[in-house]
Amino acid sequence: MLFKGIGMAEIDNLLKKEELNRDDLVYLLSSTGAERQKLFAHSAAIKERYVGNKVYFRGLIEFSNICSKNCYYCGIRRENKNTHRYNLSDEEILTAARFAYQNGYGSLALQGGELESEFFTTRIENLLKEIKKLSKGTLGITLSVGEQSPEVYRRWFLAGAHRYLLRIESSSRELYYKIHPEDDIHRFERRLQGLYDLKAAGYQVGTGVMIGLPFQTLTDLADDLLFMKNFDIDMCGMGPYIEHADTPLWELRDQLLPLEQRLDLSFKMIALLRILMKDINIVAATALQAIDPAGREKALKIGSNIIMPNITPGTYRNDYKLYENKPCTDEEATDCKNCLEARIHIAGSKVGYNTWGDSIHFKNRMQQDGSSNDPQ
Ligand code: SAH
Ligand code: SF4
Repeated sequence: MLFKGIGMAEIDNLLKKEELNRDDLVYLLSSTGAERQKLFAHSAAIKERYVGNKVYFRGLIEFSNICSKNCYYCGIRRENKNTHRYNLSDEEILTAARFAYQNGYGSLALQGGELESEFFTTRIENLLKEIKKLSKGTLGITLSVGEQSPEVYRRWFLAGAHRYLLRIESSSRELYYKIHPEDDIHRFERRLQGLYDLKAAGYQVGTGVMIGLPFQTLTDLADDLLFMKNFDIDMCGMGPYIEHADTPLWELRDQLLPLEQRLDLSFKMIALLRILMKDINIVAATALQAIDPAGREKALKIGSNIIMPNITPGTYRNDYKLYENKPCTDEEATDCKNCLEARIHIAGSKVGYNTWGDSIHFKNRMQQDGSSNDPQ
């Protein structure tokens, strides 16, 4: 009882602090019971105050699972021979984009395996221009196709993409090399440089990490939060690590935290990032839903404000399996929309249709720099 009393005073003090340090974050990541509830109530209030209760959609098109990399955790890694590889046709991508436009989604996200070639660059460039054309310039576009050269980032920005999601996966170089091969195509420094290059090209920059990785400690996660704060990101997409049978990390599955604990840690990471970075956009990642059917809605309540409804044509969804138990692989885009709207409503939020829902943090950052590239 006495211990609990000390704990409660401790959390009240921590939540009043201007700056949270690594030890504070580790403490909060380990909170349970009433302390954990206080943490979530605090982050929810900050969310409401700084970004409101609107949730913005990014219609997610997983356009290809062909990837040149071999990340140890990912189900579509190059060396996984059990994956049926696909690459949507331009027409299929544009049809999905039209769906997003006609249904008022406001934005879409193009995500896929990582390839670097002039052919790939030009293809994406043309698709970006076509998407802008078919939506009369109104659809916002997020890209998530991994590491590219500064020149390629610039070309895609000029063609119409204005947000980019490149997860650092782990900000600890040591842990990074436990989950990636240590070779020329998986260089931690290049991933990090990518974030700087994206910022320089003018993007709203998003990053994030996987939570509950083998070897990962609470200190690593606290450092990830501080990394995002220090880098001054505009958006974040982070979620639980979920093991996949056809990957090298599967061998370590017995060392992982139980799924519920990975989910709980993910919620705490979202809550703490909202406290550290009040006005950024935070995605309620799909992987949350793979553990708990209401995982994304719970994330919305405590800090997230972005959802990425899957608008990939249904027939391909089963092949974009980054991890096991990926939800909604047997649905079509319309089913997703109806299901999500109801869920978001239950979570006490509203969908912000027909608007980009840009990162307020980015707008503030641009104002401080005295420039803006936001046409809305
Ligand atoms: N190829 C691009 C984008 C597609 S992968 C890239 O790597 O940036 C998108 C994200 O899926 C990755 O950043 C990674 O964080 C996540 N991911 C991959 N495998 C996962 C797994 N087993 N569990 C949870 N998330 C995973
Ligand atoms: Fe490829 Fe991205 Fe998967 Fe790594 S995480 S194997 S880069 S799709």
